[in-house]
Parts: sequence; structure tokens; C-alpha cells
Amino acid sequence: MVQIHAVPAFKDNYIWVLEDGRHAVAVDPGDDAPVREFLGRTGLTLSAVLATHHHADHVGGLAALAREWRCPTFGPAREEIIGLDRRLGDGDRIVVPGLDLLLSVFDIPGHTAGHIAFAGEGLVFCGDTLFACGCGRLFEGTAAQMVDSLGKLARLPQATRVYCGHEYTLANIRFAEAVEPANARLKERKAREQAKRDRGEPTLPSTLAEELATNPFLRCTEPGVVAAAERHAGRHLEAPVEVFAEIRAWKNSF
Ligand SMILES: [Zn+2]
Repeated sequence: MVQIHAVPAFKDNYIWVLEDGRHAVAVDPGDDAPVREFLGRTGLTLSAVLATHHHADHVGGLAALAREWRCPTFGPAREEIIGLDRRLGDGDRIVVPGLDLLLSVFDIPGHTAGHIAFAGEGLVFCGDTLFACGCGRLFEGTAAQMVDSLGKLARLPQATRVYCGHEYTLANIRFAEAVEPANARLKERKAREQAKRDRGEPTLPSTLAEELATNPFLRCTEPGVVAAAERHAGRHLEAPVEVFAEIRAWKNSF
């Protein structure tokens, strides 16, 4: 039975640590210190490191952990990451060493050019592409790429648990309310996520079903989202990608 822990790093990053009581696997270790502290406290052996994209707050601790534990590292084929030895792309499948988890790899460019997701066994690690009630900024990709990438994630089973890279949920919900003030699921979600933060708990993981019901970036064909984007743009928007681009820009200045 694999358990998944949120190990906080920096201001609002989560390093996800999967473990079965003996072996542990770290996803997006931006810093090695909190992972080392977790392993020391639990007595677990690190058997692999996974990385979704090249940003330092996701891979800064990868090389040091791999060296210390002599374990393999898995990450995007199309990005340069120091210490990465298994380079993966769309359609690849891996059995995660130590845990026997079978995960599929998806290319999900947009936030970065080579960003990947690991999905399977009812969960997805999607880095800075899909956030709880939001999505990543377009640093290296286009709106069209991000719409495609989010579409791939949206087609996973609805019960899929979504493990993303940052605790941005409450701020994302405030923006989502500006886009869809009448969305009842969003109001209900806000209360639930606020209660988790008040208890000092992560809001993550969410589920894909919850994202489909409340995340404006997955709802670019919903009439209410289209109308809000058009009001903000001051013009008619033809395609879902235009709606997405408008709300992404709106969020940047929110
Ligand atoms: Zn990033």
C-alpha cells in the first residue's frame, strides 16, 4: 500500500514523497534538505526521483539525492536537468523502482517547453501545468499548447487524484470566483479548502472531477466562462483557445 506525503519546500512548493513503508520516491524535489529530513525521520530508503520540468524549485535537490542514495532519476527528455538519467516523453511507461507503480508519461508543454506528467494508478503528478483551480503560467509555451496539455489531463478518469507542485489553491479560487461568481461548486469548494488551510493541512490532492467543476482553465467552453472572458476582453472570442488566453492574461494581472 503506497502512501503519499506532502513535504513542504520553499514558500509554497510541495515535494511529493511516495512510500510503502520501506522504499520512498520523491517527485519534484526542489530542495534535498526537506527530503533528507523526511527520510531520516522515517528510516525509508530513497529508490527513485521523478521530475516534471526543469525549474529549480522542482529539481534543485535531484542530483544531490540521486548521488547520496545511488538511485535512478526520471524526467523530461526535452529539458536539460543536471543529474537526470532516464529521459522520458509521451507514451513512455515506467515501473517506479522500489514501489512497483506503473506510471504513463504525457508531454504537457505550455508552462515549460518539455514539461511532462506522470499518471496511473488513479493519480497524476502534473507539476506546474494543472493547479488546483488554476494552471501554470506560459513561460515557454503557447496558449494553444497549454489548452492541448490541459485537455490530455482532463481526459484522465474523473476520480484521478491531482498532485500539483504548489499550494496556490485559495488565491486561485479567488480568481475563479471573479470568472464564475455563480458557480455553486466553487463556493462550496472555497469553504472546504479554507477549512483545510485553517487546520494547517494541504489542500492537495484534488480530484479531476473537482477541477472539471470549478477550474476556469478547464471550463473554456462553459457559457459562463466564455461570457466572462468576452466581457474582460471587450470583444467576441471565437475559439476556446482565445477564451483560455484571455483568462490566463486576466489572471496574470488579477
Ligand atoms: Zn515551474
